[in-house]
This record gives sequence, C-alpha cells and structure tokens, in this order.
Amino acid sequence: MKVYVSADMEGVTGVVDAEDVQPPGRDYERSRVLMTEDVNAAVRGAYAAGATGVLVNDAHGPMRNLLPDLLDPRARLIKGRPKPMGMIEGLTPEYDAALCIGYHSRAGVLGVLSHSFMGHEIEDIWLDDQLTGEIGLFHATAAAYGVPVAVLTGDDTACDELKSWDPTVSTVPVKFAKDRFAAELVPVDQARAAIESTTTAALANLTPPTQPRTSQTLSVRWQSASVPSHLTAIPGVTRRDDRTVTGDMLHLYRLFNLFLRVCTAVTSNPPYC
Ligand SMILES: [Zn+2]
Repeated sequence: MKVYVSADMEGVTGVVDAEDVQPPGRDYERSRVLMTEDVNAAVRGAYAAGATGVLVNDAHGPMRNLLPDLLDPRARLIKGRPKPMGMIEGLTPEYDAALCIGYHSRAGVLGVLSHSFMGHEIEDIWLDDQLTGEIGLFHATAAAYGVPVAVLTGDDTACDELKSWDPTVSTVPVKFAKDRFAAELVPVDQARAAIESTTTAALANLTPPTQPRTSQTLSVRWQSASVPSHLTAIPGVTRRDDRTVTGDMLHLYRLFNLFLRVCTAVTSNPPYC
C-alpha cells in the first residue's frame, strides 16, 4: 500500500496565527516542528496499517517547512518550490490513499487562517457550481487520479468542509476555531495520538474511491479585475465575468503557480489580510 501525504501548515496542531506559519514570524520555527510531528504521527499510522511506502509533499507557502532531520526516516519528502502540481506534486494513480495533514477551510469561512491559496486576492473558487477551497480541489484532483482521500487533519471547520464534500473521509480536528486567528487547542500529545490511530483505522478500512466526481470546470474569482485580464492571455483560460476566470480543472490546477505569480506581480497584498 502506497500512501501520499500532502502537508499544509494552517491546520497543524497548536497553530493559529499568520506569525505561526510565515517566516520570519515569531513562532514559525516552532510551528515547523509541530508540523513535522503531525506528519510523523500520520506516517506511523500509515505503517501500522501496512503501508509499504509514504511520500510526503510539503504544500505550504515556501514549501520548505518540514524538517527533514526530524521527519520519520521511512517517509520520502518533496521539499521546495516551484513544482508543477504544487499541493499535489508527486500524486499519481499508483497511490492507494492520500492524507491531508494540517489543512484549512476555504476563503470566507470563520475557520483558523481560512483562505483559498491567497488570503486576499482569491475571493472564491468553484468546482462546476460548488463553492470550494483547497480541500475540495485536492479531493477532486485525487479523485481524477482514482486515489481516495482517507484522512484530513485541521481545525473543526476544515474537517466539516471535507465531510460535506465526502462524508466517507475520516477527519481529526486538532483545534476548534474561535475566529480566523484563535482556537481552543486539543493538547498536542492527544492530537498526535488521534492522527496516528485515525490514520491506521482509515487505511485498514480503505474504501475504493466513490464514483469519481464529474467536476470538470474550475472557476476562480479574484478581488481585482486586473488579474483576470492578465490571466486570460493564457490558452485554456477564459473569462466568466470581469473578476472570474474559468477552465478545465486539471489544466487550471497546473497553471496555479503561474496564476499566483501573475497575481503577486499585479498586486502587492500580503496573505491572510
Ligand atoms: Zn498553507
């Protein structure tokens, strides 16, 4: 059984603030340890369920957050950016299951550090007509590869978001949102134990992917109409209205790095504002 792990940071145990997840934030270095240990709990859980290989993709910001020397040596790590598929780099149909560790809810939700790829510039994302964020997009892309998402960890709003997308996925709430920058935390040891045991149980009872979703069209609404006017110069990207671009899901997913670079060049807003 080959297991793929996509690790984000906003939904990691103990993390609540932008300073926790962005260098040179005051607690960023400690959060890297917390993130690595959440991933390690999932890796232990996967091997206890009979995994024969685990690939971990660092999927947050600079994508150089996980600490290789603290990471369980049974896992392989994809570190750094840019990489063509960003948060799902390395995922292929060969994998039997995917795990989302440290994920967060979509833009507009009152969840810890909620956003969709860019805190200010992206207002909403849709898959076909369903409002989504990074969670739904990860799930739909994995489904397109025939890989089931087995576990998600994050705050309670991230867990709820995935459950509403696919109720069969096991979730581990490691904190309960009070606001976008505050949460009641599950004690660290308890959270890691829950990640480990939930991963083992979920992988031991893997159900094949439910009917692959028919989602084919990805649409992104930007805060600034200036961004779509640049993006529609790219083949396969069309304008739905002044602030929204649309196109084939996998095509647009591959373009996301480029989207973010264009957007950063056109605007200069920091994340999470
Ligand atoms: Zn992130």
